[in-house]
Amino acid sequence: MGFDIEKIRGQFPILQRTVGDKRLIYLDNTATSQTPASVVGNITSLYEHTKANVHRGVHTLSQEATDLQEHTRRKVRDYINAESVEEVIFTRGTTEAINLVASSFGDRFRDGDEIILTVMEHHANIVPWQLLQRHKDIKLRVVDINDKGELDLEQYKGYFNDRTAFASFTHISNVLGTVNPVKDMIRFAREHGVPVLVDGAQASPHLRIDVKDLDCDFYVFSSHKMYGPTGVGVLYGKRGWLESMPPYQGGGEMIKHVSFEGTTFAELPFKFEAGTPDFIDIAAFSKALDFLEETGLDKIRRHEEELLVYTTERLLEIPGVKIYGEASEKSAVISFNVGEIHNYDIGLLLDKLGVAVRTGHHCAQPLMERLGIPGTVRASFAAYNTQEEADIFIAALKRVAAMF
Ligand code: PMP
Repeated sequence: MGFDIEKIRGQFPILQRTVGDKRLIYLDNTATSQTPASVVGNITSLYEHTKANVHRGVHTLSQEATDLQEHTRRKVRDYINAESVEEVIFTRGTTEAINLVASSFGDRFRDGDEIILTVMEHHANIVPWQLLQRHKDIKLRVVDINDKGELDLEQYKGYFNDRTAFASFTHISNVLGTVNPVKDMIRFAREHGVPVLVDGAQASPHLRIDVKDLDCDFYVFSSHKMYGPTGVGVLYGKRGWLESMPPYQGGGEMIKHVSFEGTTFAELPFKFEAGTPDFIDIAAFSKALDFLEETGLDKIRRHEEELLVYTTERLLEIPGVKIYGEASEKSAVISFNVGEIHNYDIGLLLDKLGVAVRTGHHCAQPLMERLGIPGTVRASFAAYNTQEEADIFIAALKRVAAMF
């Protein structure tokens, strides 16, 4: 089966809307992707027919709701090729998943320990590690990039020493689009006995993730970037680590027995899922995974790559355009500036022409500082974007550039 773009677009009602009197051209997929009718319909249906709290009730609705949530957990396990459902923890998103690991795994770090990060990290993979520094004298070692926006792997390797306690890096940069050689990076860390977290927020909608093949210790991602509902994320962790880590939050669901003398905790994965989870959205997330499987990740990747190459070429025809991120392995994210025009002005004027792009620092201020710029305009593609949309975007950008 080929890639039937009209059939794909037909599944996303939001693509029919207008902005002002212009057709919506949605190129902000890196921030969040749109959601197909199958997911939206499922959420409505669950609220209308199956809403009951999970894991607590003997009644039919509660059982059904629990089954649906656990069905998604099995789907996620299969989607990322995890060993077991116990290794799949539901969180609110990538951010919460990284905070969980930093806080809980970070418990074992000692003064003088070092954590390896990279300069291209999203704030979500910087600040949680800095929070640890309030209580412990931990050093962050930051891997730089070259002019193409690729990691300096020699520097990365050079950072490992006997104080290295952890490495945490992104699979794909949300600004540069760089696809990092995470498998090699993990192998190197493994040779030095250093556990690794991979921030998969940008990779999970575009690449096939196989946590066994990667051999990562932790892998995290968000449903809302994968055509799924908001409020749901996943922490994959190797069972041995998860079992040895203390709980992140305390409350209902995560306990075995509570008394004022002392409390024992539930088994995995529930030990890390305190409180009522976002069970409706978790259940509906399975429909987004169906969409990805049915459409085909490989086909989506190829389609997005064509859009990336095409749009990059057309963009560079515009005088003054500078693109940030020219890695040989690149995802369909284009960050750029046009001459001295402020990124915010470009974004605002493109919006008047119906084109939604993101502007600013993209929650990557250290990267902006490294690039010596306050921000960029960022256009990013998903399965439903078309070459015609890329043309409209380029034409709109030409109009905007001509105004200055
Ligand atoms: N890491 C990366 C690379 C991201 O792009 C994002 C979202 N922009 C995040 C982490 C945070 O994801 P969330 O806001 O869904 O927690």
